[in-house]
Amino acid sequence: MLSLNLISIALLCVGVFGLILSLKPAISINKRTDHKGWQLLLFLIVLFILGYLAILYSYLFSKQSGMIQLLLSSIMAGGGIFVALVIKLSYLSIIKAHTLADEEYYNARHDALTGLPNRLLFMEHIEIMLAAEGEHYQPFAVLMADLDKFKEINDTLGHAAGDKLLIELGRRLQGHSCDSTIIARLGGDEFAIILINDNHKSIFQTSRCLAELVSQPYETDGYSLVVDLSIGISMYPEHGQDRETLLKQADIAMYLAKESKQGIMFYSRELDTSSLKKLERLSDVRQAFALQQFELYYQPLIGVKDKSLCAFEALIRWPQKDGSVIMPDEFIPLIEESQFMTEVTRWAVKQVIVQIKRWQEINSSIRISVNLSSVDLQDVDLANYIEQCLKDNNVDAQHLCLELTESSIMADRNQALAIIHNFKDLGACIAFDDFGTGYSSLSLLKDFPVTSIKIDRTFIKDLVSCDADYAIVSSIIQLAHDTHRFVVAEGVEDLATCEELKKLGCDVLQGYYYAKPMSANEAESWCDNSYRLARACY
Ligand code: C2E
Ligand code: CA
Ligand code: CA
Repeated sequence: MLSLNLISIALLCVGVFGLILSLKPAISINKRTDHKGWQLLLFLIVLFILGYLAILYSYLFSKQSGMIQLLLSSIMAGGGIFVALVIKLSYLSIIKAHTLADEEYYNARHDALTGLPNRLLFMEHIEIMLAAEGEHYQPFAVLMADLDKFKEINDTLGHAAGDKLLIELGRRLQGHSCDSTIIARLGGDEFAIILINDNHKSIFQTSRCLAELVSQPYETDGYSLVVDLSIGISMYPEHGQDRETLLKQADIAMYLAKESKQGIMFYSRELDTSSLKKLERLSDVRQAFALQQFELYYQPLIGVKDKSLCAFEALIRWPQKDGSVIMPDEFIPLIEESQFMTEVTRWAVKQVIVQIKRWQEINSSIRISVNLSSVDLQDVDLANYIEQCLKDNNVDAQHLCLELTESSIMADRNQALAIIHNFKDLGACIAFDDFGTGYSSLSLLKDFPVTSIKIDRTFIKDLVSCDADYAIVSSIIQLAHDTHRFVVAEGVEDLATCEELKKLGCDVLQGYYYAKPMSANEAESWCDNSYRLARACY
């Protein structure tokens, strides 16, 4: 009997021990969350411990013992261990979830390559500085720094060398003990810094120090590289009251510093207003791009013979907060004047390839064409980039079409020809856009390996009423067929034009008569609904 009592006491002690063990993680959980349920649980555990101790006390001084007591203490021992286990496991899961959330928070705010803060964290930082009032208020300068000729390094030595250089550059900038609060990589070869200072002279000196630090030679893979930094500076509160304006003005000053080869420049309202306006606009466009505000719309191309949907053309749009949309003619020409065009084109190409994949998965294979600019026909690495994107998404190159215009080819005809051959070798289709508007359309047709030509909309618009347009379109179709190319007519707006083009033997039609450019979702439902209607009435 006595031994039964001893066993019961031992079992109760195990239960109490389990409950006490669960106290520590339960207190830690309570510190991390403010959920009332955990507070209640902690309270209950303490209550249980007191209850267990009271029963233990009664067992210690009780003369009676038996199976019922033993059974009860076994259940209580199990209960104590159960609570300890549940609380410990919950604690571990909560810690894991918190660590993952912390990691995610950190990764969203840091650049994966250099480990520096990224644009998001930089913007949050400016916001905090702007919100500081009273004794915490500090005037500061925003520095935008961009490497000169980084693209050439990437193109000639490859991206791995470019990445190494950026990592080293980030390390140097971070190691510089200036009065900066944050050094961030905004993307590409663009860095931004905040200096807590309102003295122009000392800001200029710090900027010069940073530029000199960056221009020390870099030893990489047996090469010794020297790169220069252009820095643009805007001041708070002198040049702007909000983060977007401050960043934009530092960006403008950086462009002017680069263009004028001065290296370092402060923003000033007295700068030439026309170029300032242009740079301001370009800066807006760059910010919109960085914030992923651009979207691709898709316009269908319809085959004449079997009324089939042959392809879509991807056309860029810049949707605004108020619901309006800025059309490409208003911002593409501006981007085309800068190297930034290559970034936009790469983004568009990637989007298109991902879209081809998506439509392949939900429907059938469809070709999508993307527009290239003259800057893209000087980008010797573009074909490799496209090849990699196609590989990553497991998309065949024949589903991608690249549209080139005569003006884009003429910037450097030989270079363009070499690059177009690279596209061709990949297996992508090549279309000659806006055909007939340039001076050398015919000679380009002879030399360039294009798969199709797109007759410019200016010839299609009055095709039915204008004899000259009719003759031109008819000749272009004949010529294209004689040189084994497909012909696409752009800007088909009515049935009469459609019928006329059909009679002339045009292969593919594109225009508002079928559909305006649509968002990817709209294009999907168009394929499901309206396209069938369009086929029926065509
Ligand atoms: P584009 O390549 O010649 O594109 C055809 C333009 O004609 C598009 O204008 C399209 O919306 C418009 N269009 C199509 N059918 C009709 C019609 O029946 N009637 C009329 N009036 N217009 C029609 P959008 O989208 O405004 O694009 C203008 C130009 O901007 C494009 O001309 C292209 O040169 C450029 N662009 C658009 N997206 C991109 C892009 O992603 N990259 C580059 N580099 N350029 C682009
Ligand atoms: Ca086009
Ligand atoms: Ca066109």
